[in-house]
Amino acid sequence: MHEAQVPGQSVTYVTDGSSVTERYVPVARAGVYVPGGLVAYPSSVVMNVIPAQVAGVEKIAVTSPPQASGGGLPHPAILAACELLGITEVHAAGGAQAIAMLGYGTRDCAAVDTITGPGNIYVAAAKRLLRGVVSTDAEAGPTEVAIIADGSADAAFVAADLIAQAEHDPLAACLLITSAPGLADRVDAELIAQLATTRHASRVKEALTGQSGCVLVDDMDAALAVADAWAPEHLEVQAADAGDLAGRVRNAGAVFVGPYAPVSLGDYLAGSNHVLPTGGTARHSGGLSVLTFLRGIHVVTCTESALAAVAPHIDALGGAENLAAHVRAVRIRVGDDSAAAAAAAGGEVTGARSAPPLRHDLVGRVPYGAPQIDAPVKLNTNENPYGPSAALIGEIVQAAAAEAAALNRYPDRDAVGLRRDLAAYLGHGLQMSQIWAANGSNEIIQQLLQAFGGPGRTALGFEPSYSMHPIIAQTTGTRWIAGLREADFGIDRGRAVAAIAEYRPDLVFLTSPNNPTGAAMPLAVIEQVCAAAPGMVVVDEAYAEFARDQQATALTLLPRFPRLVVVRTMSKAFALAGARVGYLAADPGVVEALQIVRLPYHLSALTQATARAALGRSVELLGAVDAIRASRDELTTWLRARGLSVAESDANFVLFGTFNDRRAVWQKLVDHGVLIREVGPPGWLRVTIGTPREMNAFRTALEEVLS
Ligand code: PMP
Repeated sequence: MHEAQVPGQSVTYVTDGSSVTERYVPVARAGVYVPGGLVAYPSSVVMNVIPAQVAGVEKIAVTSPPQASGGGLPHPAILAACELLGITEVHAAGGAQAIAMLGYGTRDCAAVDTITGPGNIYVAAAKRLLRGVVSTDAEAGPTEVAIIADGSADAAFVAADLIAQAEHDPLAACLLITSAPGLADRVDAELIAQLATTRHASRVKEALTGQSGCVLVDDMDAALAVADAWAPEHLEVQAADAGDLAGRVRNAGAVFVGPYAPVSLGDYLAGSNHVLPTGGTARHSGGLSVLTFLRGIHVVTCTESALAAVAPHIDALGGAENLAAHVRAVRIRVGDDSAAAAAAAGGEVTGARSAPPLRHDLVGRVPYGAPQIDAPVKLNTNENPYGPSAALIGEIVQAAAAEAAALNRYPDRDAVGLRRDLAAYLGHGLQMSQIWAANGSNEIIQQLLQAFGGPGRTALGFEPSYSMHPIIAQTTGTRWIAGLREADFGIDRGRAVAAIAEYRPDLVFLTSPNNPTGAAMPLAVIEQVCAAAPGMVVVDEAYAEFARDQQATALTLLPRFPRLVVVRTMSKAFALAGARVGYLAADPGVVEALQIVRLPYHLSALTQATARAALGRSVELLGAVDAIRASRDELTTWLRARGLSVAESDANFVLFGTFNDRRAVWQKLVDHGVLIREVGPPGWLRVTIGTPREMNAFRTALEEVLS
């Protein structure tokens, strides 16, 4: 039970580049007070020492009053409990002076950081005086029980529990709170009968006739109000709907529910802790626990760019509090600006300039996209270099003209015709109900994250991979876990399955063929990920048509894995990047779920018509894909012949390298009129396969750059 209390370390990524980790660290040395006056309590040793040990406290000192009968040592039962728990430091000292010894230290006892353990009123007063010198558990003074009971309660049980509590101390307070006057009478009779045979009758009598009593209430609501007002150390609920009533208790050290959960069970064996707040302190404090011995430490990290992003807010807050040095401590790191200058000069700062109130987790982000540089040869965004044929252009124009006449109307909201055509194109027995389409596969990915991710949810990917997966995850509030690919850019199935087991992601992203590295992943790995994943598995097959093995598509796994989604696009093989058409194949239930997050009429009539015209010419378009694949393989051979490393590619690009200064190589290629992409692992560059003329230009430029 105490092991379950140990809090995990929590990491919050406050913005991109800054995090706060909460680490729980045990105190170095704890002192445990074990009373030994009227009764010896070995159970108190257990209740205090175990949470300290579970918390990881390295040094624990126990102190307990010396016993005349034991030659001045603490009670043998207490010593035995210490021995069994491996405690090697026990002091024979009791009362307020023992607390002083623990708090300030003596020659024989080093000062502790935390003091816990129950005691009499002097012990409690000493602990209160030491607050600020050490931390302490909640105040545990004379013991208390309140019993909420209705007419269904067993009077013998109630009386036994009142006597058991009174047995501790003549100052014990025992309260019966009942809505049944008959029960109060029966409990009185039982008390008299049971008292006759109880061992510690005199102190029980003193307690029960002193600060104890019975409160008659109208109903159980009133009973709860009385209990909450008193905030007892122990509260028993012995009533018909005990579970429900217990759930409504606000103030109590511990609650015991129903006829078979007496306080005695909690004292010894329930697993709950019996060191509990008394004297009304249960209003603000809980019982002893592992947390008593731990402190949360916030560990803050921040990168330069993340600090720069939040600096305007620090300008504003530091300015408002007139703490110019605070502002300066930030601006000295990330540059000055007008607000900082004003604050440093003691001037008034009127807020974070004119920046609109962006969501805080988006502050500092920049829009994603390849640099838009005008170069004669553009091989940087994995586009298909071949524009549509004259025939296809004619068909698109015709289809668009037909739609143009009806543009006053919204388009087919469900894109039924397009989805039917896409299903027919994909084959594998897929039906329209298993296909969904949107404006580019990026929008498909966004819809998937809106429906299956979002705040509180997690997505896992294996990097390096397509950057938009984590970016869309973050903009939809989904926590992104970056798993890693191996040195050969593949995904190790064992490590993938272990990451899934560790993070239990709501979505797993697999890109196959992978962008920017190029290779497709074996179906067996995708299969294992599907078998291990607790949520959705998204296989991004944007480049599927360029793969060396056309059979190895995750589409073949769809019948077996209803949470698998295969994402495709018309931007690449269909040379339709400008029309923005992406789509997916999945279980019909997934398609229905996505309709919840899609905007009505998201796919324009012109887009749908254009996509259908292109699908009508898939044979022609896929012919060009064959030429691109051949050109890719040729380029791979050519690059390798020049001593360069080239990652295996199943896509319309290759990743090559490695360069000590890839930026310089990229820039020199730009200077030669060839724009490729500086992306992927350090040292590598990515080039998209263009037309034969463009590839010649690339080869010529690269040879010159490298010579
Ligand atoms: N997935 C991958 C792996 C990509 O590389 C790209 C584009 N480069 C996309 C999806 C998005 O393509 P689109 O939105 O044009 O369909």
